[in-house]
Formats: sequence, C-alpha cells, structure tokens
Amino acid sequence: MKDYSESDKKIILKAYRGLLRASKKFRTTPEDTAYIRKAFNYSAEAHMSMRRKSGEPYITHPIAVARICTEEIGLGATSIACALLHDTVEDTDVTLEDIERIFGRREKRIIDGLTKISGAFDLSTSDQAENFRKMILTLPDDVRVIFIKLADRLHNMRTLGSMRADKQRKIASETLFLYAPLAHRLGLNAVKTELEDLSLKYTEPEAFEEIATKLRKSQEIRARFISQFISPLKKELDKTGLKYSIKGRPKSIYSIYNKIKKKKVTFEEIYDLFAVRIILDSKQENEKTDSWRVYSVVTDFYRPNPDRLRDWITNPRSNGYESLHTTVMSPTGKWVEIQIRSERMDEIAEKGMAAHWKYKDSKKKIENKFDAWINKIRDLVENKETDTLDFIDDFKLNLYAEEIYVFTPNGDLRTLPKDATALDFAFDIHGDIGKKCIGAKINHKLVPLSHQLGSGDQVEIITSNKQTPKEAWLDFVVTSKARSNIKQSLKEEVKKIAEDGKATLKRKFNALKINYTDKNVSHLLKMYDFKNPLDLNYQIAQGKIDLSKIKDIIEKGGNLNFEKPRAPEKEKKIKEVREIITNFGGKTGESIILGDESLKQVDYSLAKCCSPIPGDNVFGFLTINDGIKIHRTNCPNSVQLMSNYGYRVLKAKWKSQTDREFLVGVEFTGIDGMGILNSLTNLVTGSLNINIKSLNIGSEDGFFKGELKAYIHDTKHLDDLMKKMEGIEGIKTVERVY
Ligand code: MN
Repeated sequence: MKDYSESDKKIILKAYRGLLRASKKFRTTPEDTAYIRKAFNYSAEAHMSMRRKSGEPYITHPIAVARICTEEIGLGATSIACALLHDTVEDTDVTLEDIERIFGRREKRIIDGLTKISGAFDLSTSDQAENFRKMILTLPDDVRVIFIKLADRLHNMRTLGSMRADKQRKIASETLFLYAPLAHRLGLNAVKTELEDLSLKYTEPEAFEEIATKLRKSQEIRARFISQFISPLKKELDKTGLKYSIKGRPKSIYSIYNKIKKKKVTFEEIYDLFAVRIILDSKQENEKTDSWRVYSVVTDFYRPNPDRLRDWITNPRSNGYESLHTTVMSPTGKWVEIQIRSERMDEIAEKGMAAHWKYKDSKKKIENKFDAWINKIRDLVENKETDTLDFIDDFKLNLYAEEIYVFTPNGDLRTLPKDATALDFAFDIHGDIGKKCIGAKINHKLVPLSHQLGSGDQVEIITSNKQTPKEAWLDFVVTSKARSNIKQSLKEEVKKIAEDGKATLKRKFNALKINYTDKNVSHLLKMYDFKNPLDLNYQIAQGKIDLSKIKDIIEKGGNLNFEKPRAPEKEKKIKEVREIITNFGGKTGESIILGDESLKQVDYSLAKCCSPIPGDNVFGFLTINDGIKIHRTNCPNSVQLMSNYGYRVLKAKWKSQTDREFLVGVEFTGIDGMGILNSLTNLVTGSLNINIKSLNIGSEDGFFKGELKAYIHDTKHLDDLMKKMEGIEGIKTVERVY
C-alpha cells in the first residue's frame, strides 16, 4: 500500500474496511483475517499502476467483488481471498505459480479457473460461448469459481455506466443471455434479479425508464393497498403466537417488462406487480408445520386459487428454493401472490446454496439435488461431440426450464424440466434405457415416447433390444441429456453404416484391380461431389451410388451421369408426409370411398394426368401440398408413383351400389406404426375387398391408436378382417367397438 497516493489510500482503505465488516461472521479466527489481509495486500501491490475506467484505483474492483461474494452470496474466507486475487494473473505480472507458492494449491486452482474464463468482453459471439463452456467445465471442480465470476459480473454491471455505449450493450446482452440464467440456476435470486434489471437498463433503456417511473409513481397506491390487505391478516396471525414478518414486495422491472412483452398487456393491466411475503422465525423442525398454519390462516381470510398452490417446502426445487406459494383473491378483486417461508428458506431463496451451507447437515436432500445438477452439467460438458453453440442452447434450455416431479415404478422421485416426455425420462434414468425405449406406461397406461409427463406421474419404461435411436426423436425430447445421447448415437450409426460402404468400395476396387489409395478415393469424392469419405461411404452402403461407373471415373476422370442423392431432404419430405397422414387420420376421419358425397370425409381430387371416372380402377396418392389425388391404376405415372412412393399410395374404390353391407367400427393399437396405414389399407381394400368408411390413425413416433370404420357383409367377414388385422406386424390389439 505504501506506494499509493494519500487520496487513493483513503479510498482503498475505506473499501477494504467495508469488506472486513461485511465478512465478519466468516472470519472466525485471527488466521482468517490475516489470510484475507495477505490477499488484499498482494493484489493491491499487483494492481498498483492500474485504474478502472471510472478513474478509481483498480484494486477497488477486486475488493467490491470480494464483498459481493461474502455479503450477497454468503461465501467464506477462501472465496474472499480468491475474489481479491481474481484479476491478478489475467492483468498483471503475477503467475499461477506465484499464487500457488504464496497462497496454495486450492487458490491456484480457483484463480486458474477464473483466468481461463475471463476476457470474454472483446471476443466474438461463438468465443463467448466457448468461454462460457469453459466456465461450466470448472463447475465440477470448484463451484466457487462460478460464484466469484458472477460477483465479478455483477460489479461490472453495477459500474457499466463508465463504459462505451456499444460495450455496454454487448456486456448487458451477454449478461442477460448467460449470467442471469446461471445465477437463477444456482439459486442466487437477488443476484439474478439485479443482473436482469441492470441488463435491461442498457439494452432497452426507454422501456426500463418507463417501468421504473411508473413503479415509483404507483408506489403510494400500492403501499396503501398492501397495508389494507395485510392488516386483517396480521390480527389473525398474531393470535397464533407465531413469530413472523410480513411485507409486500414489488416484482422486478425485468419481470414486469417480460410480462408486458409476452402477454401483450400494458403496465396498468398487470395485477400482480407485487407479492406478499410472510417470513417465519421458526425452529427448523417446526418450519413446515408453521408454514402450513400460516397458509391456513391466510386462506381462511382470502379465497385461494386452487390452481396456484405451490408446495416447494415438501419438494424443494433443484436450485434449492423452498417456499409455500398461493395466490388469493383480494377484496378489491385482484389476485395477490402470497409467499410463505422461514427465515432460513428466505436466505436460501435470496442468496442461494452458499447461504445454506451452514444448514447443510439437516438439509441433505437439497445437497443431493445440487450434486445431481452438477453431475448433469458434467455429463453434458464431457460429451465432446456436442458443439459449443448446441451446448449453450441445451444448457440454457435446462436453466430456464420449470420443473416437474415424476416417480419411477419403485416410487423414486425424479426431477425433470417442464414439457419433458416419456423418452426424456428414459434417458434420465440411463442412456442405454433411452436408446432402447419403445414406449412407456404412465400410471399403468400405455403411451407413446413423445407423451409429455405431468407432475406426479408414475412412469415405467418399456424397452426392446431391437430399438435404435431415431432422428425424429429430436423433435420432441427437451432434456440435453436425451438430445446429446440421440445425436451421438445417430452419428455412430452413420459411421457404422459407412464402414460397410467402405468395405464394399474396397472390394469393388480390388475386383477392378484399382489401388485403394487416397488419391483415387479423393478423385471419387470430387467427381461425386462429396466433402468427405464418410458421406461417400455412407451413400455407397445405402446403395445410392452406381459402382459400375467407378472404373470409368478413375481411368478417364470421365463425366458422371449421376445425381447425388439428397438424403436429408428426402427424409424431410417423408416426415412431412407422415405428418399429413397423422393429421388427416386425426379427428375428421378418412374416407377413400369415391363417388358418394354423403360419405366424403376426405378432400380428394381427380388427377389431371389420367382423369379417372367412376368404374375405373383407381388409387389415391397423397401429395405434399394438394391432399389426395385419385389416379387410374393404368395412369402413365402410376408405376413411378407406386414404386417410388409406395408409402404414400392409398387404395381407393368407387362406391359399390349393389352389395348390402353393414358398418362396423374396429379399434386397434400398436407400437411402431411405420407403414401400418399401407399394410392396413392393402389388407382391407385389397385381399379382403372391404369398403372403408373411415380410417383414423392417431400416431406419434411409433405408438398409434386407430379406428377403422368399414362395410362388412357378415360376422364371418368381420372375424376374417380382425384376424388378419391382428396378423399385421406392429398391431397389438384389435377390438370391435360397434
Ligand atoms: Mn474482474
């Protein structure tokens, strides 16, 4: 300190004394204080010649960060020291070896983590993402790195005013994008809220000002309303003898801004601008009972909305949040959210896990959940196949997700994000179970893989060794564990198939007496316009490439009369068609009886190329954009359509006026419905010569349920039909419904 000017010294020592005051309860021994002082002196010396943009000596920043760590996040001496040192290796001559020599291994590890992830300010978007990934990678090592980084970011946001406007925006959006959700996930509610509000201030200054002003102006009215609302409650609560405090808390500017934007309402239309919080001074063993007693008093007085009861005391959220929430109707007809919790819970809610570490002995289950979360992140980052931006997306998804609670068949509770499906659950249990999953039973009822789970569901996964991950699964899974597992398996699958293709190509080369050399292969790649051998080999394995021309190509470098197959596009088309089939088999029903308008339930039109008329042999062809087209079976296009797009062909018949027939309904269910529509229509209209009135199939990723309404001559005819239907692969149950 001796080389600082007198005026700088004054500023620095004042800040330092503030830090010491704030960290008093964490400095239990004289050694703690000496340790912090040592870090302070060391850092002050290292940053001697530096100043912040605001003109203050640089060391005020590490001091402020250290103070946030202890005062607002509840961290102890190690974190305080590391926060003081956090910029030394990055910005001064100090090396990691110096830190290890002077302070120790633990400090070196933490500073190393902090150094690796700093400097994100001047980098491009994807590099920021990479930095963020690095930061997450340090999580399993020492979660303090993340806490200190968040404190660093919070102080930078608080002092963002002295930065250039373009930098302000950039830092603010990065904060909103990455750091605020991270704070949320770590349960640092106060930090998260402040980060969001500060970010909004710099990204949407007008909107921020407008809401802030309106909040100020309406403060008095709000205060009056709150006190009127609270005072009768107080009387009742006082009678219980419980020790408590009660207050109305305004919601954050950012959350109000979000509500205005999402629900397209005005500030004046938002009813829940504040929540009433009742904080109990209860012994830990009584806090649950006491909270419910308060709930009982509150709801005796005000009518609760039964849909808005949230019991996060019995089932804490995975970021550690515990509280009992209800929303009640006030006498003026406004809904008011009530949050009931103990002082301990309140501290965790505001400061997060670190604050609760002092209670950890008695709250094992929250610890376990936190560990489970860290492990999930570890799974995610250790999956090297995931590229960085994907990773950020997945990670953010997990950060923002609301949670549901579901049970295994043994009654074990598992936490999943909202909208998680049966397949997510399977992957959550184990990657291998997910990969083999063919369906699930929810509360003993069979459901498809894509079925969205609800809180309280009991889920049993059905697996099959024949199952392999499908690309379509990516459309409905929401957890990053499921996504990365599926993506990885799909890649492996392609690689495996490509191996076969490579072997085929080698055999072909051998037979043609061509050397399998890099040069020859790369010549092929060029001629077939593939970027890498993997794609080429894959297409060869799929039989999409005419190998008979290889000799020509290699020898003459000749021209290729070859159109490169566009696999992904074709896949997309098939998917679209499947969707159409699904939709059109949905609620309205399907009729492929032609020529009877009273039965016409499906939109079809007659193809222009062959203009069929009643009496012709015809078939239906499902087009992508134009519904069903009816073609004559001897239409010039029919062979091409039937052979290339068999799965889109539907049997069709003109209504027969002569036969007497009876309408029956048959319900059927099954798993793995690919091609089921085709087999079914083939069977019914083909071999059995039955007229269909309608055929509904509700199909989701392999599980389906359908209803066939058809004209049947007699019961023998019907028995025949049902027996044959049961014989179709994939159909599990067939039942007559009328
Ligand atoms: Mn810093």
